[in-house]
Amino acid sequence: MGNKTAIVWTESSWNPVSGCTKVSPGCDHCYAEKVAHRFAGTKAYPNGFDVTLRPTDSTSRCGGPGRGGSS
Ligand code: SF4
Repeated sequence: MGNKTAIVWTESSWNPVSGCTKVSPGCDHCYAEKVAHRFAGTKAYPNGFDVTLRPTDSTSRCGGPGRGGSS
């Protein structure tokens, strides 16, 4: 979740969801889970791998999609 990005075709990015729920044996070696555990407790993963939603009005300085990238 940030106001700046290295993505060349946009000025800002926003991740509305982090975490997931394992649903099948295909999830046994989930890369996303490893990343979430590594950064658990940080701004990006405040609840580790637990599903966490970020409503548009409570996101980073960019204010969510369609709100522009200036702060
Ligand atoms: S992100 Fe991980 S836990 Fe979620 S569906 Fe994909 S493999 Fe499974």
